[in-house]
Amino acid sequence: MCQQTPIDKIAIPFMNDMEGITTMPVPGRRCPACLERGQTVWVIPGKCCPQCGTPVN
Ligand SMILES: [Zn+2]
Repeated sequence: MCQQTPIDKIAIPFMNDMEGITTMPVPGRRCPACLERGQTVWVIPGKCCPQCGTPVN
């Protein structure tokens, strides 16, 4: 009955700011198919690439 949507479990690990990590803290992998085309597309492991639909594990 309660239609509360729980906060998604996909949390971006932003908490390690003090370690000087300046790269994009994206929890995922780069799609290999898009990478071959020179595109960096981040895909959450187990999902499909939003650009080309390649499943990334
Ligand atoms: Zn792709």
